[in-house]
Amino acid sequence: MTSPLLEGKKGIILGVANKRSIAWAITQAAAAAGARIALTFQGPRLEENVRKLAENLDDPVVLPCDVAEDQQVEDCFRRLGEEMGSIDFLVHCIAFANREDLAGEFLDTSREGYRIAQEVSSYSLTLLARAAAPLLEKDGGGSIVALTYLGSERVVPHYNVMGVAKAALESSIRYLASDLGKRDIRVNGISAGPISTLSARGISGFTKVLEVVRDKAPLHRNTDPAEVADTALFLLSRMSRGITGEILFVDGGFHIMGM
Ligand code: NAP
Repeated sequence: MTSPLLEGKKGIILGVANKRSIAWAITQAAAAAGARIALTFQGPRLEENVRKLAENLDDPVVLPCDVAEDQQVEDCFRRLGEEMGSIDFLVHCIAFANREDLAGEFLDTSREGYRIAQEVSSYSLTLLARAAAPLLEKDGGGSIVALTYLGSERVVPHYNVMGVAKAALESSIRYLASDLGKRDIRVNGISAGPISTLSARGISGFTKVLEVVRDKAPLHRNTDPAEVADTALFLLSRMSRGITGEILFVDGGFHIMGM
């Protein structure tokens, strides 16, 4: 019998807001595959949610981590080191843009709206990778996975400033993969099809986006968070040990269609 994919592995998953979060689907899959998991919450508003969900896990760690605050990130990884010693993976499922920037035209994006979307949704990956690298290399390297979306390379109505932030995130994935490869740390992205979550519902006209995917994607259905989680499991495990700097689409094939 083969052993579970992440047996004896430890990692941190950032971006669980509630049970619909893609991060929660990944957490469940990673836990079922044998991993010990640390979850984070951005602020007191979601702390209770995350602690309640963590009760379903075996020996979880729960830590505050607002990625807009350098000190919080530093404290989070210091405490993670104290609790876990070393880690084998990090999953980045974090994005934020002001609601007014996810409606109307990209042309109207303010300097502040652009800055905040980039800082929270893109720069955070570099910040977290730098903080996590010493813990990842302690046990001989590891895997970092970030969530992205097709709006980085194609225009999706109202995705606007978040599309630009995701383009920067995907480029960061490649630069980080290049920097961290020598420490045996791999960095990859999953480009998920649209899924109805708290963040996604903040995008004006999101229901229409779900409809278009069901209509046009080769698989003619919307993406199930569990499908994204299974791909994350592959990227976190040794099964993908030859892959870094890659963006894998889990979108029912929608991105291949010209019309
Ligand atoms: P979600 O459940 O709303 O998760 C987004 C998470 O980002 C929340 O936990 C949110 O916490 C966190 N976050 C925002 N600002 C933060 C900050 N300053 N510090 C720390 N955490 C912060 O939505 P989701 O759809 O699962 O999103 C997860 C990832 O998947 C995102 O990167 C998203 O862009 C990506 N993605 C989503 C879809 C989709 O259609 N749903 C498709 C492709 C890619 P708060 O709620 O506390 O702000």
